Amino acid sequence: MSKSEKKVIHCKRCVLTNQKPHSINESTNKVGDGKKYLVIHPDGVCVACKYSDKKNVNINWTQREKELKKILNKYRKSNGEYDCIVPGSGGKDSCTVAHLLKYKYKMNPLTVTFAPTIYTDIGKKNMDSWINVGGFDNYLFKRNGKVSSILTREAFKNLLHPMQPFKFGIKTFAAKMALKLNIDLIFYGEPFLEYGSSDNKNELTPDFPLEMLAYDKNPYISGLSVNTLKKKYKFNDNDLSPYMPIKSRDIKNSKIKILFLGWFLKWNPQEIYYYASKNCGYVPDTQRIDGTYGRYAGVDDKIEWLHFFCHYIKFGIGRCRLDASQEIRSGHITREEAIALCKKYEGEVPTRYLKDCFKFMKITDLEGWKIIDKFRPKHLWKKNKQNKWIRKQELKELV
Ligand SMILES: [Zn+2]
Repeated sequence: MSKSEKKVIHCKRCVLTNQKPHSINESTNKVGDGKKYLVIHPDGVCVACKYSDKKNVNINWTQREKELKKILNKYRKSNGEYDCIVPGSGGKDSCTVAHLLKYKYKMNPLTVTFAPTIYTDIGKKNMDSWINVGGFDNYLFKRNGKVSSILTREAFKNLLHPMQPFKFGIKTFAAKMALKLNIDLIFYGEPFLEYGSSDNKNELTPDFPLEMLAYDKNPYISGLSVNTLKKKYKFNDNDLSPYMPIKSRDIKNSKIKILFLGWFLKWNPQEIYYYASKNCGYVPDTQRIDGTYGRYAGVDDKIEWLHFFCHYIKFGIGRCRLDASQEIRSGHITREEAIALCKKYEGEVPTRYLKDCFKFMKITDLEGWKIIDKFRPKHLWKKNKQNKWIRKQELKELV
């Protein structure tokens, strides 16, 4: 990270900062590697907020829906075969994407699931409802638990990113299935730009960047090269295959098209939640999520709780800040309300499932906390006189 990148800039509209990293091709994520970060414009407003302005004013949504219908007409099949793939594990976005495509736009989607690392009860329930209440065919892929435990631990130790092995699945599983089953069209929901995880060149196109799931040589998994992992754990190619990205040439030679439905249709997280609950029986969590005030997003994997806490440690941006920023953009809360919510919940220790996560990774609480503290960047954290970690370069209300 350069010196200028270490200077924290807060968006003046939402509560994100320039420390938020972009979504990346996971197979290039090495120990200590540089990243791209949320762009904040000279007027002090971040790209996610800028995009949201455009969403509400400049984008002709009727025109975009027309474009969508044109594409769907090109790919729609009436011979009994599936014509598109919707990846997901029964969260509100995947429920809504699949349902709209099948029941509103009369497509024939196949849903595919790369199972969460450690399912929550509510996650399992929502997954079943997606298939049974929503009404879809589904391929569920469950990973070898022994390998998953090791890779999750390595990703936690090397990158403080325990969810990374699962992210490989999220980003590549649908494309792998599409190649195997000869289905050329794949739909995700929310574009990266909605939450500031890409730059605005992605604004002009509905396409998921295919380079995110391809590799040419020496991919990295959990921050280690595949060869290192094989040596260290005696893994063979088959053990690691669920995590391997796709060879660039296989992607280039294919006709695969991966699109964000949220580029064509105005994506509002709260409305998506209502739609999913009405049409697919989606239910929110029974209690508030540690680290934020909501109950309805990202509740299917126990690792997700730890993931957002790690995000807070590494980038100073936790779950509350992400949720609140999105709600500012949707016009549901003000920045002052968001700051008050962050004061209350941001950075809260994810106690509910923390022990389960450590147990899954086969590490003790003490080891776990040592790893976490090792990843606190010096420009974001310092210890006070009481030996307690406090934030640097933070909004004064939140220190
Ligand atoms: Zn912003």
